[in-house]
Amino acid sequence: MDLFSTAKQRLNKAAAIISLDPLLLSILSEQDRVIEVSLPLKINGKISTYKGYRVQHNNIRGPYKGGIRYHEIVSMDEMKAMAFWMTLKSALIDVPFGGAKGGIAVDPKKLSEHELEELTRLFTDRLSDVIGPYKDIPAPDVNTNPKIMAWMADEFKLQSSESKVKYSDGELQAVVTGKPLELGGSEAREEATGLGGMFVLSQTLKRLGLALKGATVAIQGFGNVGLSISRHLAQEGAKIVAASDSKGGIYVPAGIPSISEVWRCKREKGFLAGCYCVGSVCDLRNRGQMNGKNISPDELLKLPVDILIPAALENVITGENAAQIKAKIVLEMANGPTVPAADEILEERGIKIIPDILANSGGVAVSYFEWYQNINRQKWSKDEVIHKLRERIEKTVDEVLNFALEHKISLRDAAYACALQRIQEDWKSKSGLSKN
Ligand code: NAD
Repeated sequence: MDLFSTAKQRLNKAAAIISLDPLLLSILSEQDRVIEVSLPLKINGKISTYKGYRVQHNNIRGPYKGGIRYHEIVSMDEMKAMAFWMTLKSALIDVPFGGAKGGIAVDPKKLSEHELEELTRLFTDRLSDVIGPYKDIPAPDVNTNPKIMAWMADEFKLQSSESKVKYSDGELQAVVTGKPLELGGSEAREEATGLGGMFVLSQTLKRLGLALKGATVAIQGFGNVGLSISRHLAQEGAKIVAASDSKGGIYVPAGIPSISEVWRCKREKGFLAGCYCVGSVCDLRNRGQMNGKNISPDELLKLPVDILIPAALENVITGENAAQIKAKIVLEMANGPTVPAADEILEERGIKIIPDILANSGGVAVSYFEWYQNINRQKWSKDEVIHKLRERIEKTVDEVLNFALEHKISLRDAAYACALQRIQEDWKSKSGLSKN
């Protein structure tokens, strides 16, 4: 089943729970707009043409909002599902945004920095009519980062100097979020998704009467999100026993002593496998002393841990491997990591899934804070941002858990239903339907 069909299947299930208006269900079952652009680039005298996508799913609650992904597997189907999830996520965490997603089918590791900048600027140029601070606001996702966001903001500024719409400096910054601090980025934005995930997990465990301190954790994906959540969980006393990136990973049953050293080692070597760090010395030869084991990204999913965190790509927990998962809780930091067949198997086995639209909503929450600060020319301190994030997340977790308990449904169905209720309220009040 393609990814967007998976998303629609879950939409239909949640729509039935809250008796969603059939017209709104039809609206949410499709995209407002899909854009496909072609991006020719000359590399070493040879022309390569890349495909770029932007899907604007829905803007009932505010401007379209969603990340930009650079990856070889980027496709229109993937972007449609991700944009739909952004609509739900923004509604669930209650920020005044809709949902979008975009990306380029490219392996950015094969491009030089100059080529990457050229490709990003060309993509932004192609999208300049449909993005903007009140229209559609991109952000970082897989293989994109603050530097790429800065190129996008700069290119948009260049393009808009020729357009009839005149933006203020703050509005020009607000066209993308996840920017570097000195170019209008927000404190805590880079770590927001991981930090938010830690808040989601600790509040859920608190409600379930379980402890985070001492819990064992395995994390698949060691990029922006995987690194940040592992750091925050370790600080809270959880024991990170395994981590992997696309090339492989490490398993240290007694706990990885220092996440920062593993990250430094990965940055220096380009991959995480073999990063067994004792103090600041990271070497495969330390493996025996640490009782460690090399693992593949798939093996990581099946480790005997309390908490499993997929933080890489979609469709990794499947009907084939779900029966072998031993964790008690799956925290979906990646978007769409679990296929519906696996949902059922995990549920039957009593494994709780904290769904993506809740687990990783810290990213869009702080993106909203960044956008708000840009438009209103404010600068919030890191403590202020983190305080606001924590408050918003704990409130949302309580809302989802209460709904799940009341209706005796999974956390995924409850999260979808809460988000849909909020969208329906706005939709009715905007179209005057509440008066009927
Ligand atoms: P990233 O590019 O910074 O990191 C991705 C990581 O996944 C890398 O370590 C990569 O090596 C690893 N990876 C790729 N393929 C893998 C595989 N097959 N097995 C194991 N690891 C693999 O991306 P990110 O921003 O950390 O995003 C990760 C996930 O979180 C994505 O699903 C993304 O949509 C989601 N997400 C990100 C944000 C954000 O703010 N960046 C917000 C919400 C959700």
